[in-house]
Amino acid sequence: MANRHGLPAKMTDAEFNEIDQNPPAWLAQSRANRTGKKVWVELTCDVCGYHEAARPKKWWPEFTYLTCEHHEIGSVPDPAEGMHRSEIDGIGTRFVAIVDAKP
Ligand SMILES: [Zn+2]
Repeated sequence: MANRHGLPAKMTDAEFNEIDQNPPAWLAQSRANRTGKKVWVELTCDVCGYHEAARPKKWWPEFTYLTCEHHEIGSVPDPAEGMHRSEIDGIGTRFVAIVDAKP
């Protein structure tokens, strides 16, 4: 989608198409900033409180708990009755996500 932000208001369609196809460096940079997800999340260990900022990944589910990978699984409360627990590692640099979900 074209976004004219920062471009002259009186630009013609031809000019706009030209700049759209061959964006100057400043526009390419600005587009990269806009499309690059600048969203960061704070990952915090529920056991020891260690935290780090990370870029969220699409495949990350909703975490019930988050712990450093070296903690025992028993360090966090048991899943609620009827919930199925799974662990997902590879979150951030050192985290394991614990996800309780209805089976
Ligand atoms: Zn920890």
